[in-house]
Parts: sequence; structure tokens; C-alpha cells
Amino acid sequence: MIDQFLVFKPSGIVEFNYQPGKNFSHVTNSFIEDILVSERKIKPVAGSEVKDDEADEEDDDFKEEQLDDGEYQTLGSYASDTHNLKYLFYRNQSNEKLVFVIIFSSLLNFRKPYDFLRDIKNLYLNSTSEKFEQFFNLRLKNLESSLKTTSDSVTPKEQTPLSRDVTPVVEKPTKKSKKQIQAKSGKKSRKWNADGSYYEDDGDSTPLDFSQNLDDTGSTATTANLEQLVGNKDNFGKTTKSGEFLVSDLSEEMDMILSSKAAPSSKKADSSSATSKPFGFLRNIIGGKTITKEDINKVKNALSHHLVKKNVSPNIANSLISEIEKELIGSKTQNFTTVEETAKQSLKQQLIKLLTPNSSINLLNEIQSKKVKHEPYVISVVGVNGVGKSTNLSKLAYWLLQNNYRVLITACDTFRSGAVEQLRTHVNNLTKLAHTPNQISLFESGYGGSDLVAKIAIGAIKHAKENGFDVVLMDTAGRRHNDSQLMAPLASFARAADPDKIIMVGEALVGSDSVMQALNFNKAFGANRHLDFFIVSKCDTVGDLIGSMVNMVYATGIPILFVGTGQTYTDLRTLSVDWAVNMLMS
Ligand code: GDP
Repeated sequence: MIDQFLVFKPSGIVEFNYQPGKNFSHVTNSFIEDILVSERKIKPVAGSEVKDDEADEEDDDFKEEQLDDGEYQTLGSYASDTHNLKYLFYRNQSNEKLVFVIIFSSLLNFRKPYDFLRDIKNLYLNSTSEKFEQFFNLRLKNLESSLKTTSDSVTPKEQTPLSRDVTPVVEKPTKKSKKQIQAKSGKKSRKWNADGSYYEDDGDSTPLDFSQNLDDTGSTATTANLEQLVGNKDNFGKTTKSGEFLVSDLSEEMDMILSSKAAPSSKKADSSSATSKPFGFLRNIIGGKTITKEDINKVKNALSHHLVKKNVSPNIANSLISEIEKELIGSKTQNFTTVEETAKQSLKQQLIKLLTPNSSINLLNEIQSKKVKHEPYVISVVGVNGVGKSTNLSKLAYWLLQNNYRVLITACDTFRSGAVEQLRTHVNNLTKLAHTPNQISLFESGYGGSDLVAKIAIGAIKHAKENGFDVVLMDTAGRRHNDSQLMAPLASFARAADPDKIIMVGEALVGSDSVMQALNFNKAFGANRHLDFFIVSKCDTVGDLIGSMVNMVYATGIPILFVGTGQTYTDLRTLSVDWAVNMLMS
């Protein structure tokens, strides 16, 4: 519904561009020429507060807000023949500037666009680029649902071209130096250069990768970089009234960023519908008609292509579309509801059904019930090599420490040299982060064959019972899922350890192979045992290409316990179904 959203520097460098349809740079350029170049209307005057309703009424006016720490922002609006443009001009203490602009048809009448601009600015300044894109999509969805409710009767009209032909001055980003742009992993904050450009700074951030160059004792983090290893604790989760520490989902993280910023009228996110961009090809089928097989046939390929592009495997994409087909053929769209909207809602329902676990996942309750019987709760983590087993096992341990459980990490990867030392490093770090001494410990017995693995597993459980550990977290050797010889020992391991939960860590990056990974691991434990959960790691690295999680859940029916969102101990989130659906449909 909005036509364009831009974040750019006054110098003309575009930092972010959301553009679902055609480019409205002529509107932005007029705005730049008329308002921004001279800055005649953008002179910060401390102290005055803007109210959205006021700003809506005074379309040509502008308002300044003084924020904390000498930052200013100016909010205002600009109108072209057919479009409204609302802007937020931000400058920080060092006089570095950014402009946030939203462009929408002047036929649309919605209130509080400044809330949106303020929120987006806060999210932009407080997240990495990948996270920002995800947050932007979520927040946009909220805005669009509010547009729907406030402008029921508005149907967007075909745009007529503007008469003015202005040469765009908004440029693509220039190539930045290495120092300005760094690989996006872990938490990074934006740091500003004197010329107004920024680079993403991860300071001395040490990722949780201890698989290389370790001495026998396992190197440990200094107090200074322990903080880097923990990441952003505020966003990790919160303690409930009953004392359980629950991990946040991504929507909650966005809310937390917004509520922590002193945005004058930041709005709580509410999430209900998804973006409409990929469904544009259905738009021509008008509302009020009965949908036929031919209507659906026309769009099947495009829909399937869209899902496959997001890493959903082709077979699964087709199965999902068949479900949509069943539901839609013969149904009638409501007045003003296009087949696009109906299909979109149907796909959304399919995905929600798929990704929402059948029964509630309450691991903490289960751990507690065993604890009161003085029995350790055993969780083992399996997966292909390098997917993030040890890292995410350590994140689980960190979460359990927040819940005051005593954790015994067990090194059942007796094959890969360095595996034990890698875990020792995590345990050493986590010991420093624990609430009490001896809250976490390592159980290991070096390297050897499959027999040793079973022995270690049994030994660890016995040790945990005798020493009052509440949870045993077992790391296992990474193995290729399609190599039956490597997979075979998993059955004897499962018999020996008899874990309460077996969790497969799968990468978000993996694409179609995720189906076979999930199926092969699921059947590796023998006839009476299967996987209990997935942790989908590296979700921070794939943008919206999150089809792997759909593949894994569709293929096995096994739910996702957490998603990994980075390389610090707090980069673990529960899956927000709404977020996932939004990503898949964007
Ligand atoms: P394992 O061989 O399966 O135990 O994998 P590791 O735990 O050693 O992780 C392999 C690499 O993936 C390391 O560099 C980790 O820091 C990285 N990693 C693990 N989880 C995530 C995640 O959620 N996001 C990102 N960006 N990297 C991750």
C-alpha cells in the first residue's frame, strides 16, 4: 500500500530502498530539491514536540523533536500531484544526518505515519542490516493492517505519471571501503564516520567459533570479550512472574528495541497480515468472482517459483499450492477482495498450520518435573558437520543457566580432533557467566570409537545424577546424513543415552537438502525413536530465504524449538510464526 520507503543521506546515498512497484524517485527528488537541498525547513529548534494528529492536519508544516544526547529529528510532509511524502530528518550529536521517507498515494488517508517513521528510524539505528530488513517487513505489515482498518473503502487507483520530469539525484550506494562494511555476523552496531557514512562495528566481537587453534585446556575469554560473547542480553528474553526465563521471538525483539527508545509515540507492534508484493500476479483477477481451476493454474508457476526462491523445496512448494488450490477453487472472493488477497490468506494459513507446533513446547516444565525426582533431563544435539551444534548447544546451556539449572555439558563427539577442546572453551566461558560456582561443568573422556560414545553418555548421566546436575547436554559428532555407516552409531547412542529430547540443528542456509537431512536424521535412531525438535541455525545470514525451516517441518512434522540468529550466546529466539510467514511471503 505504501509506494516507496527510503533511507538516505542528504548527500544522496541510498541506504535502504523498499519499492514494491514502480520507482517514485521523481517525488523524492522534488522533495530533495524543494526542501532538503536548502534545508530551509529543517532547522532544529530544541524542545518542540510533534503530535501526529497535528502534523497530519498541517501537511506542509514541519516539527522538530529534540531527543536524548543532543540528537534531533524533524518530521514533516511534502506533497506532489499524486503522492504524499512524509519524512523524518535525523541528525545525531556529531551533526551526521539521515533522511527517512515514506511515499504513498494521496488517495490513501492514514493517520500516524510519523509513528512509523520514528519506529523505523529507531530500528535502523539499533540493528544490523539483516535484522533491520526483517524488522522493516514486520513493522510495515503492522502499518498496512492499520491502513486496511482505517481506509476500508480506499482502493488504490492506477497511478498517472507526474508531469514533472526530474533527473534522479538519488544515487546507488557508492562502493564502500572494507572498513565501512564488514561481514554481517553477530551483533554489530552502526558507527558513524565524520562524512556521515557509517560502518558496522563489531568492536572486538569474538564469534562463538572455538573449533580452531585450541590448546589442550581450551582458551577462555577475557572478561572484556565475555560481554561480546553474550551479545545483547536485553533482547534475549525475560523472566516471567513464575521465575522462568523465556527466550524472545523476533517480533518481541523488535518491540523491545522500540520500547527502549524514547520514541514519543512508539506503537506496540500488532501483527496480523502479511505483505502483498509476491502476489501481484493475482491482482488482475477482480473481486466478487468464483475462483476457478483456470484462475489458479494461471498463478501456480509464479507462486511455486516464489516459494522455491525462498529455499522451499519444489515438491513441498507444490504440495502447499495443491492445498491452496483445494481451498480456493469454487470459493468466492468478497467485494473488493482480489483473488490475490484470498490466495495470500490461504497460503498464510497453510504456513501457520505447518509451523505452529501441535502441542505447546514447554521444555522448562519437563526439566522441572525431572528435577523434583532428582533425575537429570538429557538433551542431545545432532546434525551435519559445521551447522552449529556446539554453538547452539552452548546457547541452550546459557538459557538454562538463566533458569538457574545446573548443566553438565557432555562431549560425545569423540571423532573430530578439537571437538572436546571447543566445548571446554564454551564451558569455561559459561562458568564465568553462571550465577553460582559449579553451575556448569564439562564431562569428557577424550577421543575414540562408537563404543566410547555410549560409555561417555552413560557415564555422564550417572555423574549428573550423583552430583546434582539438572540437565545433561550432549554434543555429538557431526556426520553426513546420507552416509549410512556414519549414521549407524546414532541408534546405539540413542539406546545408551535414552535422551529425553533429541534436537537436530539444521542450517537455514541449506535449501533443498534440508528435507533429506531432516528425514535421514529422523530415522537414524531406530524404529521407536525420532527427533523431537529442530534448532534452525544461521537465520541471520539468509535474509528472507528461510524456506529450509518449512522443508524440515513439512518433511517430518517435527517442530522448531528455537532459531539461531547469530554467534553470541543470546542469539537464540523462539520461532515467530508471524515473522516466518512474513519473510516467506515478502
Ligand atoms: P558444529 O560443527 O555443528 O558443532 O558447528 P559449530 O558450533 O562449531 O559452528 C560452526 C560455525 O557456525 C561457527 O563459526 C559458529 O560461530 C557459526 N554459527 C553457529 N550458529 C550460528 C548462527 O545462528 N548464526 C551465525 N551467523 N553463525 C552461527
